Amino acid sequence: MNKDFLHTLGLQDDNDGSSTGQTGMHNPDAHLVSRSPVDGSEIGRVSVTTPEQYEQIIAKAQEAFQYWRTVPAPQRGEIVRQYGDALRANKDALGRLVSYEMGKSLQEGWGEVQEMIDICDFAVGLSRQLYGLTMHSERPLHRMYEQYHPLGIVGIISAFNFPVAVWSWNAMIAIVCGDVTVWKPSEKTPLCGVACQNIWAKVAKDNDLPEGISSLINGDYTVGEMMTKDERVPLISATGSTRMGKIVAQTVAARLGKTLLELGGNNAIIITPSADMDLVLTGALFGAVGTCGQRCTSTRRLIVHESRYDEVRDKLAGAYDQLRIGDPLDQNNHVGPLIDTDAVDTYLKAIEGIKNEGGNLIVAGGRIDDLGSDCYVKPCIAEVEPDSEMARKETFAPILYMMKYSDLQEAIDIQNSVPQGLSSAIMTTNMRESERFLSAAGSDCGIANVNIGTSGAEIGGAFGGEKETGGGRESGSDSWKAYMRRQTNTINYSTELPLAQGITFDL
Ligand code: NAD
Repeated sequence: MNKDFLHTLGLQDDNDGSSTGQTGMHNPDAHLVSRSPVDGSEIGRVSVTTPEQYEQIIAKAQEAFQYWRTVPAPQRGEIVRQYGDALRANKDALGRLVSYEMGKSLQEGWGEVQEMIDICDFAVGLSRQLYGLTMHSERPLHRMYEQYHPLGIVGIISAFNFPVAVWSWNAMIAIVCGDVTVWKPSEKTPLCGVACQNIWAKVAKDNDLPEGISSLINGDYTVGEMMTKDERVPLISATGSTRMGKIVAQTVAARLGKTLLELGGNNAIIITPSADMDLVLTGALFGAVGTCGQRCTSTRRLIVHESRYDEVRDKLAGAYDQLRIGDPLDQNNHVGPLIDTDAVDTYLKAIEGIKNEGGNLIVAGGRIDDLGSDCYVKPCIAEVEPDSEMARKETFAPILYMMKYSDLQEAIDIQNSVPQGLSSAIMTTNMRESERFLSAAGSDCGIANVNIGTSGAEIGGAFGGEKETGGGRESGSDSWKAYMRRQTNTINYSTELPLAQGITFDL
């Protein structure tokens, strides 16, 4: 395979991002090995950040914040605009690295970089729109308003499955808000982190910016813990499993810090009697097998009206037969590998669990041995009862559960009965059904779609979910408010000092 993209992104053998002066310095004693799930080969090594290096990085970030918070927001937006342009120039290379290091299709790798560019554009506009409200004071000759100030250091912890976009959702918004960021990427995709940081470092250098506005730390959860326990980091934005989120939430809450949590999903599509079958097939297929079932918004459950059940099952099984599985950089393939062999084991165990609880495998899954690495599996479909224990869990792999319903309320109840609350969808051409699904008595998820699948959100809306998904919102709309502190100001321009609520206090 042509690996020129590594060179384009500055990922030479000994480059761990330290040359940028913006990251952890070289640590010869411990490193992460980045191994591609595509062909099993080692792509490179990244040094692990030591506690001493962490201290230096936080000190630099604190110093940078003193400066950055005083730069007018539109000027901060100009830096983000330049970063977006640098991403445009590197879109092909970075998309290829995402595909090679994480295993998603090249189309999705490029799509992820496009999402970064989109959030940069959004953040540039936002840099002139960090609005507070003004309100009327109850006291004469007084003015009241609220304004938003940056928080300080924003710690970003990210998952392997969106190794670049999730960071940019957080970092680009935080940076226009006047914060500085410290990012710990997933230990499974460390080179994606170094590549993004290298691109940032060039933009920072071209603009004579100080080090520390965007920094990178590398390692496993123990490196993440340095930030979650650190009172100098007022906000931790963590994306990953619910298991991780529960630990991070408690650690940060113990020091009364703020968290923004984007955790696991268990996303369903309700397919009603009036559903348009073409939309159902495309939405369900991409949702279930795209990114090899490793999106937080992957479609995991189909809740199908009994009148359409056999048709959906047979057509979907036919479509699964035509899936081409293999090297995700080959654009003829639809499905790439899972991230690593641990993920394959988890997937195989889930299939055993389905059999043990009496589920029926409509499309049998299993490992595929003759492709480039030990990480390739066949997407599978299982028919289960609505109260299936397996279907309540998020197995981060291409397993799709099908179940029947007879009445819309029953379908909504099944959809809402799981612990997670990220994304949901209904396929219907009946306006009453779609409005009921979107109403307060409908889907309990952060995302609810009509005639679209569960995956593939746009950056303009607030992204996130309820219940065990963590409750955080990132990306568009007013998600920026999580990265700032709100201050209410009352100004008295009279010669009296009246108290609120009419209280008198005379001597
Ligand atoms: P993971 O929880 O194993 O790891 C995520 C990140 O958390 C990694 O960087 C890891 O090092 C760090 N981490 C783990 N334990 C930690 C701790 N105790 N303290 C500090 N940091 C810690 O998740 P993963 O396997 O990389 O990703 C898959 C999961 O992420 C799935 O559950 C998926 O649904 C979820 N996800 C959610 C969203 C969302 O927006 N809701 C987006 C992407 C992925």
